[in-house]
Amino acid sequence: MTTLLSAEIDTVEELTERCDRCGAAAKLEVVLNTGGDLAFCGHHANRHRADIARVASRIRIEDGFSWPSK
Ligand SMILES: [Zn+2]
Repeated sequence: MTTLLSAEIDTVEELTERCDRCGAAAKLEVVLNTGGDLAFCGHHANRHRADIARVASRIRIEDGFSWPSK
């Protein structure tokens, strides 16, 4: 069985990015395994959880935001 999430997860004090989907303050930032990165607000981080887990090589999560990675 492969694990769903192989990305390294860092917790950071604050993210200054905006969600790429809706422009809200980002709670989660994803570095893609193809290069590049994406930012998501809490709503979109949850909504795209499976996709994020599949393409992320590294994830930064704002402190206090709980994101179920499984
Ligand atoms: Zn959003």
